[in-house]
Amino acid sequence: MSTEFLAQCSAIVGDSHLLTGEAMRPFLTDWRGRFTGSALAVARPANTQEVAALVSLCAQHQVPIVPQGGNTGLVLGSVPDASGTAIVLSLARLNRIRNIDKTNHTLTAEAGCLLQQVQQAADSQDSLFPLSLASEGSCTIGGNLSTNAGGTAVLRYGSMRDLTLGLEVVTAQGDIWNGLRGLRKDNTGYDLRDLFIGAEGTLGIITAAVLKLYPKPAARMTTLLAVDSPAKALALLTLAQQACDASLTGFELLSEFCLQLVEKHFSALHTPFAARHPHYVLMEISDTESEAHAQALLERLISSAIEHDLVRDAVIASSLSQSAALWALREHISEAQAAEGKNIKHDIAVPVSHIAAFIKDTDALLQTQFPGCRMVTFGHLGDGNLHYNVSAPAGQSDTEFLLQQEAVNLCVHDQVHHYGGSISAEHGLGALKRDEIKRYKSGTELNMMVAIKRALDPLNLMNPGKLL
Ligand SMILES: Cc1cc2nc3c(=O)[nH]c(=O)nc-3n(C[C@H](O)[C@H](O)[C@H](O)COP(=O)(O)OP(=O)(O)OC[C@H]3O[C@@H](n4cnc5c(N)ncnc54)[C@H](O)[C@@H]3O)c2cc1C
Repeated sequence: MSTEFLAQCSAIVGDSHLLTGEAMRPFLTDWRGRFTGSALAVARPANTQEVAALVSLCAQHQVPIVPQGGNTGLVLGSVPDASGTAIVLSLARLNRIRNIDKTNHTLTAEAGCLLQQVQQAADSQDSLFPLSLASEGSCTIGGNLSTNAGGTAVLRYGSMRDLTLGLEVVTAQGDIWNGLRGLRKDNTGYDLRDLFIGAEGTLGIITAAVLKLYPKPAARMTTLLAVDSPAKALALLTLAQQACDASLTGFELLSEFCLQLVEKHFSALHTPFAARHPHYVLMEISDTESEAHAQALLERLISSAIEHDLVRDAVIASSLSQSAALWALREHISEAQAAEGKNIKHDIAVPVSHIAAFIKDTDALLQTQFPGCRMVTFGHLGDGNLHYNVSAPAGQSDTEFLLQQEAVNLCVHDQVHHYGGSISAEHGLGALKRDEIKRYKSGTELNMMVAIKRALDPLNLMNPGKLL
């Protein structure tokens, strides 16, 4: 079967775009290099029609499909398992911006467009596409949609679901659904668009999307604020929301240990303060009026925060390069912790009102169960989303500490559940958290998810073994 099947795939995408053997290697290993799967082939179609023809062929031969964009996902969703029975369907060649409608404030992009490419296309029309992630030079719109990606401006603009008006999808049967509607109002039945967003490729292949554009702000201003505790950071968030309203774009929490790691592993990067502080908030506002207006707004906010004893020290970036230097502290945390060694990562969300209590209680619980463990806590406090990572105690090897991964995950995720949160805020479930989610979702919710999967993909060929 497989020779005849591969010949038919080649006939659809062309010989040079059907990869086998060694040429498949980069598509089979996940971003963090933790797992390498196996596949029949990697197919690189050029357009929606070729995707539809391939999916239809796979349905006929009952061959599973693993959709792949930039392969920057962090939960083993975009790589095949070890069975070697699936094809990887790379969307990278569907990389055209089809249309920009300046009056409707929309941009239609194919699924393989890099996020950065879409940001630049919007910028060239004096507009803003606000999704922003550290992986934006490598991740694709199809991957962003399929994981409902978040990032650093969710507080102001929302996540990928909020930024999308319409989709084009190839169904599991190989039909093309043209849902590329640029409508802000459409109450004509079930919202199929929202089913495919965040589905991690388990319901169909997204081939294009209509995305929302925004006016570019007249000024952006960044400040780093030293605070005593997450509780004070939370009170500062409330104050900032009252003072800045929609101008508040980003509100990130960074612990002192995170910045120590950044300074240790990147000698060019430093905190701008003379003294050390327990926590920091990196805040950004986008102003529609002017830089002077933004500066005055921030200065008023900081004076009020100092008066309320919420802030110990503050620095406002007075140039783009200073702003970039402050953001660099935040953006280098992931690399700094990787340079320090392996740790146990959690991408969690709890209601914003509970986040300080969650950190306090869970830090204490982890110290009783795993004495001396070091917390690398940072993230999008304004969205209630933290990267809550646990490192080995000083002196203990990572390998020895990682043996306790399951117990650490259980402790953290049970706490997340207790506080009404989610064990995956941004990255999805993939193969990594597929089984763990069963502990936290009700049978009723899981049954509805299974019913949707069975209805849309009865042969279970769309990214099987992921999410469910
Ligand atoms: C340094 C770094 C920083 C990151 N920061 C963030 C962050 O701030 N916020 C955040 O949300 N994520 C973040 N991520 C995770 C990752 O970049 C995002 O999940 C991104 O949206 C994945 O896009 P991708 O094109 O790489 O998708 P892939 O990794 O290729 O795929 C992700 C999932 O989507 C499916 N898929 C891909 N394309 C399609 C398609 N066209 N149709 C159907 N299914 C498809 C895949 O099968 C897989 O299940 C980060 C990753 C890295 C490495």
